[in-house]
Amino acid sequence: MKSKLRIGNGYDVHLLAPGLRLVLGGIELSHTKGCVAHSDGDVVIHALCDALLGALSLGDIGHHFPDTAPEFKGIDSKILLERSYKLVLEKGYKLVNADITILLQRPKMAPYIEEMRKSLAQTLSKVDIRYSCDIEDISIKATTTEGAGFVGREEGVAVYAVVLTEKICE
Ligand code: MG
Repeated sequence: MKSKLRIGNGYDVHLLAPGLRLVLGGIELSHTKGCVAHSDGDVVIHALCDALLGALSLGDIGHHFPDTAPEFKGIDSKILLERSYKLVLEKGYKLVNADITILLQRPKMAPYIEEMRKSLAQTLSKVDIRYSCDIEDISIKATTTEGAGFVGREEGVAVYAVVLTEKICE
């Protein structure tokens, strides 16, 4: 790979259903609905994994962690994030920063944003201490869709993630 900098983009959607856990950005939120999923349904982490994999042309999360595989049933998505970032490091690149946008009608995300940023930064830092990630490197924003579409009807949650990675100079 010639370029010192590489950008990646990720997008994921999960449906919401009553009585399930709502896990976003590595933390559990208090809500009446949660994501329908094979894993813990952490749609924030899934979009971030796809962005990281995309930056290095490594395919997508479904390719590396198929939702048909029993080993990934109910899995903590933080493990998927660690494994995705490990693949990035193995390619000789590290994360510069990530910018994530959550589309969700309810609950209000503001009280959870800092904890999510911290959780993601900690998870990424665990992979290799030499390339630890600061909370300032992880941006999380949230918006409703003003009631429009599947997000507005509280049928689902969508997440966009963009990352920048840079070649590790040894
Ligand atoms: Mg997903």
